[in-house]
Order: sequence, then structure tokens, then C-alpha cells
Amino acid sequence: MKLSTQFGRRAAWQDGLRRYRIPEEQVEALGRLVAKAADNELYQANPRYLAEQMGLPERAVLPLLVTAVAEGLFTLGWQVTCPACGAGGESAQNLAEVDSQTQCHFCHFQFVPHLDDKISVTVTATAVLRPSEKQHDDPAFRAAVDARLGKTPALALINVPDFRQLIFNQTVPEGQGLGVKRPVIFFSDLRQSTAFYHRRGDADAYH
Ligand SMILES: [Zn+2]
Repeated sequence: MKLSTQFGRRAAWQDGLRRYRIPEEQVEALGRLVAKAADNELYQANPRYLAEQMGLPERAVLPLLVTAVAEGLFTLGWQVTCPACGAGGESAQNLAEVDSQTQCHFCHFQFVPHLDDKISVTVTATAVLRPSEKQHDDPAFRAAVDARLGKTPALALINVPDFRQLIFNQTVPEGQGLGVKRPVIFFSDLRQSTAFYHRRGDADAYH
């Protein structure tokens, strides 16, 4: 029989993360956070806050959260923030529910939200981590965190390489695309490619 203590417990959900080769320090950091966090801290949580509490950079925590969502430990929430009055709209569980044109419920301003601007992402602990059935919404706490740290843009999570591979249900329907405000165009060329293609032939060189 294994010894089980509050801080030394080896939770089954942590083994789930280890199967994805998540670095051990991150698995442990999330374990400590889940053990010490109040319920409201894990409800529609700002990933930047979780990163801060875990003592890890946001760029490390986002891939960790993608994996944790795939493992059923957290659900995602997508929230649109009004650029005119700053009010946050309803949090959608699926990216497909976020409209490409929207109107603020408070000030009625109409605007186009972008994945890197005005759409942010949060995570909520599931029953695996928080067995209680209660809702733990604490808007004042969340507003204070957002004001201090800023929100995590939706695009930052979507750009995690494993996102499309691990989270199948978060797809935007064809023709309803959500835009990106600041795209980056990357151009690259292969040195001496013309000679290379001549020598190897198109099919072989392309392969
Ligand atoms: Zn508004």
C-alpha cells in the first residue's frame, strides 16, 4: 500500500501528463498549484496567473495546459472583450461559438474580434481536479488578476504546436474564420535550389 500525504501524493492525473513527456518539474508544479489553490483560482483562470503561481514562464505553461485539457483536467473558455467599454462577454466553451462579428451587451458597440486581440482564453478545472459540483465564479478576483497581468490572447494557445493535434473539438467552421490582427509572413528559399532541382529532377528534389 502506498503512503499518501497531502504534499507527497502521487495523483493519477499527474501520471496522465507524464505519458506526454511533460517535464517532471512542470508536472510537480501543477500538482502543487492544484493542492494549494482555492477553488475560485481554478475557475476561468487566466493562464498568466497560473504561470505566475507555478513559477514557470507563460510559454512553458501554455503547452502544459493544452496537454491538461486533452487529458480532461481543464476545460477551455474563450472570452471576447469589448474594445469600447472593456466589458467581457459570455465565456464560450468552444471556439466555434465565438462570432466573427459581435456586439457588446453593455455598450452595444459592434466590432470584429481577432484571435490575437479581444479574444482571450481561460481554463477551468474539471471534476478530476475539483470534485465539488459547485461553481466557483469570482468575477472580482478574475478582474483584479486580468488588470494586473493582462489576458492571454486566444492565438497564444492556438499556436501551441500540439493544440491542433490534441484538442480535436475546437475547430472553427469553414467560412466563419476568426481573423488575426497582426499576421507574420515568413519567406524562405533554399540555397542553390535551381541547380539542385536540375540535378535531382522535380519529384525527387521536392521529396
Ligand atoms: Zn462595450
